Amino acid sequence: MWSFRAWRRRRTLARYPIDAQLWQAVRAGLPLLDGISDEEDRWLREACVLFLHAKHLTALPGVELDDEQRLLLAAQAQLPLLHLGDLDWYQGFHEIILYPDDFKSPQRHRDASGVEHIYDAEHSGEAWHQGPVILAWDGVLGGGGWEAYNLVIHELAHKLDMLNGDANGLPPLHHGMDVGDWSRAMQQAYDDLNRQLDANPDAETAIDPYAAENPAEFFAVASEYFFSGPDLLQQAYPQVYQQLALFYRQDPLARLSHLQAEHPAYCQSPS
Ligand SMILES: [Zn+2]
Repeated sequence: MWSFRAWRRRRTLARYPIDAQLWQAVRAGLPLLDGISDEEDRWLREACVLFLHAKHLTALPGVELDDEQRLLLAAQAQLPLLHLGDLDWYQGFHEIILYPDDFKSPQRHRDASGVEHIYDAEHSGEAWHQGPVILAWDGVLGGGGWEAYNLVIHELAHKLDMLNGDANGLPPLHHGMDVGDWSRAMQQAYDDLNRQLDANPDAETAIDPYAAENPAEFFAVASEYFFSGPDLLQQAYPQVYQQLALFYRQDPLARLSHLQAEHPAYCQSPS
């Protein structure tokens, strides 16, 4: 059957091909894509074209993007979707706003005695419910490898989480996944992290203590680690790794282990 969506997709891909050399440069800047198959690479390349066509990147003064940088952002955004099928996973927003570096954002917090505090917090990224994604460009540039940090994946994980309502650490799970298994794995790890930090706020935790803020941040930080520090996540919280592998339908740790087996000096984990 003729499909308008498929036709539009083919037309967009034909109109905006990515030059092979340009794509090679993008891949060189993103070690976390090392080890993906040729077929996955082809999918990712096309997904980048479609993503950049569908979303508007608004660069604020101080940020100037060339094609390579736009693709660098898009490829990181699309990596989590590599095996999630053709569903529109990044829906409900059209714009990605890029600040040159961390930005101030007004926060509202009501304390236990009911007093409301309004203050400015420094952020490197935000994802608004039914609104834009905001990223600090220098934060985007700080990721891309296996450094267990990835601002793009972090903020877009919030978007996946919001697909079924408020960000609460529970994105829409696939058929066959068990909500009980998911919740247990996440809750145990979240509680463990909080216990460590309650005992010592400066504790050297296995994953970024920011994950202990709330379940939504736990899911976003765990997603960052899943793709860019999978060995650390698997070691600290294997059940979380397993649930994320079921959700993202990928095994980045297998990619990393394979690369390290082939080249023993390949990017040893960050310390
Ligand atoms: Zn977050």
